[in-house]
Amino acid sequence: MLPWVVRRTRLPLLSLRCADCGAASATTGDGRFRVNANGKLLDVWLLVRCVSCDRTIKLTVHERMPVGSFDPAALHGYHTNDPDLVASRLMDPLLARRNRFALDWTGAWRLDAPPPPPLDEAWPLQVEVAFEEPVPVRPGRLIAHGLGLSRSEVLRRIKCDISLRRPTIAGFTFTVTAGN
Ligand SMILES: [Zn+2]
Repeated sequence: MLPWVVRRTRLPLLSLRCADCGAASATTGDGRFRVNANGKLLDVWLLVRCVSCDRTIKLTVHERMPVGSFDPAALHGYHTNDPDLVASRLMDPLLARRNRFALDWTGAWRLDAPPPPPLDEAWPLQVEVAFEEPVPVRPGRLIAHGLGLSRSEVLRRIKCDISLRRPTIAGFTFTVTAGN
């Protein structure tokens, strides 16, 4: 079984309409939270910037949450702009739903794939794809890219239990049959 790993290379951009200039892309930049105390209740936002006009857009992470209900490590992370916390909050589907944005993974990931063995050994070849981060990729495209195959070759030579067309963020395996 040949191991392939999909890895994040940077944070994805956000597809999010700017109220000022109408551009549809925002970035977390270095990653900043804002924490605002209101009595014993806290609001936490993740601050992102429009890539076109630099306007700051506040994404609600927590709204009027009792201070005591925060995990102390997370609260510390919000105050210190912990990069891992920025990444995990940004990729939390709940945050995206609540603030109505989608992640734009273009150019923000790579595939680490060892070279396939020579043609006469170990074919048909089995490949196991693992995701280090939830990067949505179309299996067919990923396989074509990873093996240097055309789309018609992928359709002819790949056996896979999941749809080759539908984007997935879950690991999967596939089999490549020899070309001829
Ligand atoms: Zn803007």
